[in-house]
Amino acid sequence: MDKQFVFREVEHLQDRIGEFYEELGAIKVQLQELIEENQRLFLENEHLRERAKFYTEEQTPVQGEALKYLSSLYDDGFHICNLNYGAMRDGDCLFCLQNLQSRS
Ligand SMILES: [Zn+2]
Repeated sequence: MDKQFVFREVEHLQDRIGEFYEELGAIKVQLQELIEENQRLFLENEHLRERAKFYTEEQTPVQGEALKYLSSLYDDGFHICNLNYGAMRDGDCLFCLQNLQSRS
């Protein structure tokens, strides 16, 4: 058995383990950042849902700031209708548009 060969192989493995360890550390940092961002987006989404629900449940015409808020929420790609308020939109929603028109 070539002892030099085995020694080089072990060294090579040791290097690769070191590289894997570094990559694993970097992935762990990214995962932590994603978890934090996910939590922040979750809270933001909850907040937006509550605000959208508040405005969509109002039966009186919404004016001024509230109407601007609903419009901007819709323009940002969220439903503002009673059916799907706060959820991401996939194209235009007739219920949302009707909701905006009836309030302006
Ligand atoms: Zn909608």
